[in-house]
Amino acid sequence: MHIALRPLAEQLATDPSSVLLALDFDGTLSPIVDDPERARAVPAAIEALVDLADRGARIAIVTGRDAATVVELGGLERIRGVLVSGLHGAETWHEGQFRTRDEPAGISALREALPPLLERVDPGVWLEDKRLSLVVHTRRATHPEQSLEMLREPVTALAAEHDLDVVGGKFVLEIRIPGLSKADAVSSLLNEHTRAALFCGDDLGDLPAFEAIRSWAADSGHTGITIAVGEVPQVSTAADLQLDSPEELAELLSDLADQDNRRDPPLRGPEVNPQTPP
Ligand SMILES: [Mg+2]
Repeated sequence: MHIALRPLAEQLATDPSSVLLALDFDGTLSPIVDDPERARAVPAAIEALVDLADRGARIAIVTGRDAATVVELGGLERIRGVLVSGLHGAETWHEGQFRTRDEPAGISALREALPPLLERVDPGVWLEDKRLSLVVHTRRATHPEQSLEMLREPVTALAAEHDLDVVGGKFVLEIRIPGLSKADAVSSLLNEHTRAALFCGDDLGDLPAFEAIRSWAADSGHTGITIAVGEVPQVSTAADLQLDSPEELAELLSDLADQDNRRDPPLRGPEVNPQTPP
């Protein structure tokens, strides 16, 4: 296990309920795919999180997507007590309870105004509608980078007219309610019982969460660790640890769960099937 993770692993072994494991979804738990609806978490990562949650660790998924979709795509109901913070904290899902805010007026205006603009740049550019935010994707355009740059200014201007913010990412421009960030979502999860916290992310939108973890650790003197998944340079350089892929993160989470198992055998015994023939 990487040396940076040792204090967190120790804390997990001695007092799991004081550990917060917070993770982004797309590109972090699930490999990036062209069609976001086809994104699936790496199964081993979910297994490890189920295990860690059963032992008492607090698990949170902090995503730019809407919470309900990510719960479904990730099969997250299986993780005991998981909190899913969706749309950068605009909504939450916890133990089947869903909390969300009202749609801002500007979103419906842009829902109408954007498609013709996108179509003019490249028919491959498409708009993802997340109800409380809209995301322009250029990944499927003939020249993704170029299309993104052509759209950045007009989209930002249009959003500003309607009091909305634009945040860039890899081949995406996200139009959203101002002031929302993963930093707030993460900060609201850190409490007086937290002694160690981890955040894993892959894109620019995760940087505020890294910063929230770092300043909490500096202020409290507790353990804060940030992990970058993938190859976005600003994210890799901002993190304590860099991993190449969601599969590699799944391995790391499995290691954390396993080392915990070795110290303390699972409370749940093997399932006994009375029908099993001798
Ligand atoms: Mg991501």
